[in-house]
Amino acid sequence: RETSTRENNVAKIKVVVRKRPLNKKELSRKEDDIVSVSDNVCLSVHEPKLKVDLTAYVEKHEFCFDAVLDEHVTNNEVYRATVAPIIPTIFQRTKATCFAYGQTGSGKTYTMQPLPLRAVEDMVRLLQQPVYANQRFKLWLSYFEIYGGKLYDLLCERRKLCMREDGRQQVCIVGLEEFEVSDVQIVKEFIERGNAARSTGSTGANEESSRSHAILQLVVKKHAEIKESKRNSSDANDSKSGKLVGKMSFIDLAGSERGADTTDNDRQTRIEGAEINKSLLALKECIRALDNDQIHIPFRGSKLTEVLRDSFVGNSRTVMISCISPNAGSCEHTLNTLRYADRVK
Ligand code: ADP
Ligand code: MG
Repeated sequence: RETSTRENNVAKIKVVVRKRPLNKKELSRKEDDIVSVSDNVCLSVHEPKLKVDLTAYVEKHEFCFDAVLDEHVTNNEVYRATVAPIIPTIFQRTKATCFAYGQTGSGKTYTMQPLPLRAVEDMVRLLQQPVYANQRFKLWLSYFEIYGGKLYDLLCERRKLCMREDGRQQVCIVGLEEFEVSDVQIVKEFIERGNAARSTGSTGANEESSRSHAILQLVVKKHAEIKESKRNSSDANDSKSGKLVGKMSFIDLAGSERGADTTDNDRQTRIEGAEINKSLLALKECIRALDNDQIHIPFRGSKLTEVLRDSFVGNSRTVMISCISPNAGSCEHTLNTLRYADRVK
């Protein structure tokens, strides 16, 4: 078989699990690490249990995925194992999505934050190659969040946004600001600005942001040649009117445990919990449909999947990074996360 075709043969769906190390608090409490990574594809969870007569025993659960990354794996290695192989396809009309799924505190944000930076680094390098140098491709960035089923622009004072579809099944988020990016430093600044704008309530930043999905998109557009005579006129500056080539979305999902907040005493919390639950279920169904090349993709289940609609059809790629905590106290959430990932794969 020719090597060139094999190199382009990136799997449509990839499910990767990342285990974080025990943190200081867990270490000081002398909590057990109950997750053992046997090789680069399988792991076991050793669930502490009690018999009726109160004698302790351990139930072992084994799972295998496309890759399992243990606590010694660096963010750079995570990038190499997940997003890096997809980047060249973005210039060839692919829409790709990378999700971080898991309970609050399992390492989603830690995992997701550096990924767009490395992606932009690689994209900028690719754009300088002879095949692309004359194509008038440009890179655009946007950053928004879905909170309680509503969209907010994180780079534009949390302006409320709405969504519509154009005739060609492209998703259009009305009013979403896109910024041209050509180097990593500026991307860093946009991410920091966006993070500062993420929903924070009286209960503190992490608490609130765990109830929202943060979506950072890098879009490659092809721009029309600007005629010399028009170069200084107003419409020559209409930078945003490029034609979409490909898109890479990075999604830091709401804490998976938040989907269970449906019996909370607080009405607002219940509504948000129901929305999160709905979106994580719909997401799972959409990824599964994608894997089976199903014609009907059940994206109408939630705001999250509606926004990602165009990334579930045609040339699409999905990477799910399931983040897990290793401590015994998180066992139930860890098993839930692994079962979710298992259903997606
Ligand atoms: P989440 O976004 O899922 O709520 P965070 O990414 O905020 O979780 O991680 C919780 C804490 O654990 C943070 O202090 C983070 O720095 C730390 N952490 C997460 N993953 C790792 C890792 N792989 N190595 C070292 N520290 C980590
Ligand atoms: Mg987080």
